[in-house]
Amino acid sequence: MAKRVLIMGPPGSGKGTQAAKICAKRGLDHVSTGDILREAMRAGSEIGRKVKAVVDSGNLVGDELMCELVKDRLAEERAQPGFMLDGFPRTVPQAEALLSMLGKGGIEAVLLLRVPEEEIVERLLARGRTDDTRETIRHRLEVYEKETEPVLRYLESQGVDIVVIDGLGSVELIAERIESVLDAVNQSEEPA
Ligand code: AMP
Repeated sequence: MAKRVLIMGPPGSGKGTQAAKICAKRGLDHVSTGDILREAMRAGSEIGRKVKAVVDSGNLVGDELMCELVKDRLAEERAQPGFMLDGFPRTVPQAEALLSMLGKGGIEAVLLLRVPEEEIVERLLARGRTDDTRETIRHRLEVYEKETEPVLRYLESQGVDIVVIDGLGSVELIAERIESVLDAVNQSEEPA
């Protein structure tokens, strides 16, 4: 079973929901960079105050800060049994940093949730987070196309396979699709 996993996809593709569900079930650490930032903003920490305007506008927080946050988080005890990274890497420099942190073999599976854009906008409007206004949503989708889609091509260029998952259907059905992919990884190396 894959234990060091990236879950990718546009905002509203269901990454956070799926990562939380699967991590709880499989004892993996759910590392959501959006949650880390929202927690810092809630707590009013220095980092939280620094990133608030950027997050609320739907832009990306700087690579250097994000890489540092993820590096520290992955060094924590709770990440040692395995993790699912949700919301990172979102830019090519972040992906480069991650590969140098973990090594190429350090990423066992990359999942890409595919959801049509009309569905995404509806889901995000229904979610109602402060960064989920119609305008910010449009902007976040543009940022995704411009900054994050190249990450997929970069990972592939580095020999990292990406598995596309159909992100339409019930939460349970999508979770089943993901779990069967995770189960298939490293199967030949594990005792039956
Ligand atoms: P999310 O919950 O993943 O949709 O993230 C919410 C917001 O947090 C994003 O719109 C960005 O402003 C910021 N954010 C989360 N992860 C990253 C990242 N890896 N790099 C830059 N900004 C991020």
